[in-house]
Amino acid sequence: MFSLFNSRPKTISFPPLSLYNSETRSPETFVSLSKKEVKLYSCGPTVYDYAHIGNLRAYVFADTLKRTLLYNGYVVNHTINYTDFGHLTSDADTGDDKMMKGLRREGLDISLDSMRLLSDRYIKAFNEDLIALNIIFPTQFARASDYVREQIALIKTLEQKGYTYATSDGIYFDIAKFPSYGRLGNIQLAELQNGARVEINPEKHHPADFALWKHGELGWKSDWGVGFPGWHIECSAMSAVHLGETFDIHGGGLDLIFPHHENEIAQSRCAYGHDVMANVWMHNGFLQVEGRKMSKSEGNFVTIHELLETEKFGGQSWDGLVLRLAMLMTHYRQPIDFSNRRLEEAKSIVERWADYKIEINSLFGGEMAAWRAEIEPESSILDDLNLHPLISEMSSDGAAGAKGDRGAALSFYAALELLGFEGVEANSRAVASLEIVADDVLSDSLDAIIQMRLEMLKAKNFAEADRIRDDLAAKGIQLKDGKDAATGERVTTWEVKR
Ligand code: AMP
Ligand code: ZN
Repeated sequence: MFSLFNSRPKTISFPPLSLYNSETRSPETFVSLSKKEVKLYSCGPTVYDYAHIGNLRAYVFADTLKRTLLYNGYVVNHTINYTDFGHLTSDADTGDDKMMKGLRREGLDISLDSMRLLSDRYIKAFNEDLIALNIIFPTQFARASDYVREQIALIKTLEQKGYTYATSDGIYFDIAKFPSYGRLGNIQLAELQNGARVEINPEKHHPADFALWKHGELGWKSDWGVGFPGWHIECSAMSAVHLGETFDIHGGGLDLIFPHHENEIAQSRCAYGHDVMANVWMHNGFLQVEGRKMSKSEGNFVTIHELLETEKFGGQSWDGLVLRLAMLMTHYRQPIDFSNRRLEEAKSIVERWADYKIEINSLFGGEMAAWRAEIEPESSILDDLNLHPLISEMSSDGAAGAKGDRGAALSFYAALELLGFEGVEANSRAVASLEIVADDVLSDSLDAIIQMRLEMLKAKNFAEADRIRDDLAAKGIQLKDGKDAATGERVTTWEVKR
């Protein structure tokens, strides 16, 4: 798996990759900070409940970006965080902590231990969602409650540098001290004076000032007393730990531009003293239902569990790859109107691709792997991840390949991998639930996961590597780590235990 990515000669010169930067509001030719590696941060889910398919669009988008970078010969160091405390229902500094809401919903007591239990549950569910959508796992998942010390240290730095002030309920960032505040979202501070989208609090100097620390009965000890870091600081702290104080690309859904990303920039730039937090800011559009953003608060949400495992939607359950394509059929920056019709359309394409791949496998079999490195699929994807021409070309290449055109078959294969459909002849729902346990059905998806896990082990990220092993074990897939007798390299094999 990913032999296309791994085996491409690094000397091939590719046409430049153009990415739309939300900060400059224009497409830019991408230049990475280091020659070989791209450092990518995606804001992760708040793990108090199942993610809905709108949330998951953000990770399908990040995965497309990552595969495009891999295809261009880069190594991608990718971090996704899990927010497991401190995200209030308003996105600003008011409302309930979403984790508390989750604890009450599930009848758990209000304690840090129960919060851990609750987030374990939904972290596992989120990882399963990623597998169902064939999203490559990040190099590291960073869980906010594992980095409280780093967050406190960062708040202290901001305090020492004079960017903060105290109120009766916490420590706040003083945006007046950071003149670039609002530049990412082109937000005029005067617009925020009336409290639109920010918390009005008479103790704050400006309505857009935001909490770095909140006092509370539940939380962690600090010099300010017991409490917890504000939601925004976790990403500033964890991105610096894993990617450095300045990194290449930062992504998330459109709703994160303000206040979350604006606040991340203010914190990181003021604490670390650099002009730039991330070189490129990329945001996906919303997945909508009847013109309204899918969200928990609107109540118009669908989880992937529901979509994959029940027959509620149009009388049938759906495959993860069908949902993946239903998302990719629209450019990542445009809104998607989610409907059964869209799923039907994606399903007929995915089924056709599966038939072509089976046909091509029987025609060319083992030859395909050796040829992969030499071919290039349609390069429209290099124009800010424009997939439209590629998706239509895949259908014609697949058809020609199935009739014996070797070149077309190779392009089709490459494009399947590039877009995350390399296991199309399998069924991702079956992989997730192990209804079908044929080796060749599982191997494509598993090889990707095993590869990522080996990289984690190499980076000594044992906690995440163990989590992946345990997640798979819960599905009946047992990993065995060992060493290749000839090369001495670490290898992992797998078997299905019913
Ligand atoms: P949250 O768990 O609310 O922090 O959100 C996780 C990710 O999902 C963030 O990148 C959000 O911007 C993104 N997101 C939330 N709702 C939608 C939606 N309806 N469509 C696309 N992305 C969304
Ligand atoms: Zn974030």
